[in-house]
Amino acid sequence: MEFEAVIGLEVHAQLLTNTKIFCGCPTKFGAEPNSQTCPICLGMPGVLPVLNKKVVEYAMKAALATGCEIQSMSRFARKNYFYPDLPKGYQISQYELPIALRGHIDIPVEGGHKRIGITRIHMEEDAGKSLHEGIAGASHVDLNRAGTPLIEIVSEPDMRNSDEAVEYLKRLRAILMYLEVCDGNMEEGSFRCDANISIMPKGETKFGTRAELKNINSFRFVQKAIEYEIKRQKALIMDGGKVVQETRLWDTQKNVTVSMRGKEEAHDYRYFPDPDLVPIEISPEWIEDVRKSLPELPAQKVKRFTAEYGIPEYDAEVLSVSKALANYYEETAKLSGQSKAASNWIMGDLLRFLKEDDREIEESPVTPKHIAEMIKLMDDGTISGKIAKTVMEEMYKTGKMPEDVVKEKGLVQVTDTGAIEKVIDEVIAENADSVAAYKSGKDKLFGFFVGQVMKKSQGKANPGAVNELLKKKLAG
Ligand code: ADP
Ligand code: MG
Ligand code: ZN
Repeated sequence: MEFEAVIGLEVHAQLLTNTKIFCGCPTKFGAEPNSQTCPICLGMPGVLPVLNKKVVEYAMKAALATGCEIQSMSRFARKNYFYPDLPKGYQISQYELPIALRGHIDIPVEGGHKRIGITRIHMEEDAGKSLHEGIAGASHVDLNRAGTPLIEIVSEPDMRNSDEAVEYLKRLRAILMYLEVCDGNMEEGSFRCDANISIMPKGETKFGTRAELKNINSFRFVQKAIEYEIKRQKALIMDGGKVVQETRLWDTQKNVTVSMRGKEEAHDYRYFPDPDLVPIEISPEWIEDVRKSLPELPAQKVKRFTAEYGIPEYDAEVLSVSKALANYYEETAKLSGQSKAASNWIMGDLLRFLKEDDREIEESPVTPKHIAEMIKLMDDGTISGKIAKTVMEEMYKTGKMPEDVVKEKGLVQVTDTGAIEKVIDEVIAENADSVAAYKSGKDKLFGFFVGQVMKKSQGKANPGAVNELLKKKLAG
């Protein structure tokens, strides 16, 4: 029997406000435990929360950038549960009236795009952190994170495999980072995801029972966890069993999902409107103001790059992954006046070097100016494409400008035909057998001669000149 998977994602994104959602405490990461707290975020009795306007503005930005409808009236609700890192005994969240509804993100799929629906976006506060490591026989609680603003973005169950889920997440993360409302750091938990997964027989329209995978903190884990879960559910059904609704955890050591709690143990959160906070009213004028403040978003950038610089959509997609990379590319394209060459050098060599060193584009020793000047040296025939590869590597290693690398390493291209002819004569003399074979009709050997000449000249011979002179000499 063939199955189809159904996936819906819930993403929590930490907002980059300077202060918390209902008090003036700083949100900075990594401070001394409990040093960024006050009676409000500690949940003392008798205190009153006051909503941080920036949080609403950031949520509005995220909503508009994902095509959501911002609600003119929304409201905070209490989500009740007990946990040591939640001193109030409830989390302030939104429930029946969230700030935004009905958005979407388009992801690329074979032969086009697919629209993934966003059900809702709501605002809420984060809880504190329990610390279990390095403390014998006890756990400690750090409430610095309590009251940090989050938005939760809930998708429709529109994804059908792990690739689509990862694409959706990457795009959502890029949008939030472009907006500068979230730093996107998955390891530190500022962008985290729960994945809901079910399977159904192919062709069926009624969804199966879902399992929810909690807190998967990298794209690689999202991919692996979803794939594992789909396999697990298939095997279970083929075995005559039934998928039960439950919450499961991804075990990064064993690469399996394990049951955390079943439906019976699911919390009843007893949501009700928070009486301490007035409803949030958002005027059409405010929405327009926020809309006007939106930066160019990834999808718009891709469109503009293909139109303005004439590069393939694939290149534009890769280069728009982050604002910093997109800016880097634009600067290189402008400085060099060669938009496709700029894209090739960045996507090919530079991104590979950076990846190998686990570096971000901001940390690149090679600047747009380096690449642009190198492209110019190729254009005016000073260096060949092959030498440029060496120059690129050297620039990355040393941060030196291309002219200096070329001078110091003696990499200037040899266009002097006399010098090239000399090398060709040597190659012909050393390979009499191959020359004979070539003359008797083995045309394919031409490439071999080119290779030998280039090797002998240490890649410095002008390839055009080599081709031309070789043809002449071999014909003679
Ligand atoms: P809860 O609050 O219990 O997690 P929601 O109705 O908010 O429930 O749904 C959470 C997520 O589960 C959404 O992203 C939704 O798309 C997804 N979802 C709902 N039903 C299914 C299903 N049968 N299979 C996979 N995902 C599902
Ligand atoms: Mg859920
Ligand atoms: Zn506080």
